Amino acid sequence: MQRIVYVDGHFVEEQAAKVSIFDRGFLFADAVYEVTAVVNSKLAEFDGHMTRLQRSCRELSLTLPVSLDELKAIHYALIEKNNLNEGAIYLQLSRGNAGDRDFHFPSADVKPTLVLFTQARAVLDNPQAKTGLKVVTCPDIRWHRRDIKTVSLLAASLAKEFAHAQHADDAFLVENGFITEGSSCNCYIVLHDNTVVTRPLSNDILHGITRQSLLKLAAQHNIQLEERPFTPEEARHAREIFISSATTFVMPVVSLDGKTIGDGTPGPIARRLREIYIDMVKEQVK
Ligand code: PMP
Repeated sequence: MQRIVYVDGHFVEEQAAKVSIFDRGFLFADAVYEVTAVVNSKLAEFDGHMTRLQRSCRELSLTLPVSLDELKAIHYALIEKNNLNEGAIYLQLSRGNAGDRDFHFPSADVKPTLVLFTQARAVLDNPQAKTGLKVVTCPDIRWHRRDIKTVSLLAASLAKEFAHAQHADDAFLVENGFITEGSSCNCYIVLHDNTVVTRPLSNDILHGITRQSLLKLAAQHNIQLEERPFTPEEARHAREIFISSATTFVMPVVSLDGKTIGDGTPGPIARRLREIYIDMVKEQVK
């Protein structure tokens, strides 16, 4: 069955969806995006994702062509039209079709291109949560505004290819000796006194919506948390490592650069935070 996708005000079958070759998202990666998890046919953390989308737009002088209420209605229409129970909705907003290739921003009458589509996948019962991920480190070669969620994802894609070539599941990115974040996730280590450490917010990392909730949940459940940078060396000697993102929630890491972390199985803090986070999401999607 073909998916029904949304392009600029229209719901169409995926093969009928078209965007111009002059679209600035295509030519310049001049576009922002969001990925929101769907559980029980409902959106998880929708408000957080839309707040970040508005921030990304502000930082790049992009204008959302629809209101947040309309955006929510489009998300739910896609869930319904595609019978989506669990998975994600991808949203992309580009600066639109300027009619030619020109570095300068087009005039204000050029409309941004808004595209949304669904992706069905297991979110709650992701089998990788039971086995944990193998991760390798590689240099962070991305630009310096990683706080803006742009579709400029070639460096992330190369990092994932690098990881796969080494039979690893993902890559942690390293800059000036410290781990910034994962190719598409925020990173955490657990010290031997059970303190969770994660890098503080700055332009060096994406301000994860899952991270934001996890920090609140950790405080509520008396899990010690420290925001500071950490090195790959410190991570390799940590009691646990885990990651967070909208579609993986909390995912344990069981090896880093070939070194086994803990006993090579998902650690208790990562498992507990995953449980707590899933409970919060289940409450949202009741
Ligand atoms: N960092 C990067 C580079 C990412 O691509 C993502 C996933 N979009 C995250 C962190 C996690 O953010 P979120 O929890 O909002 O999905």
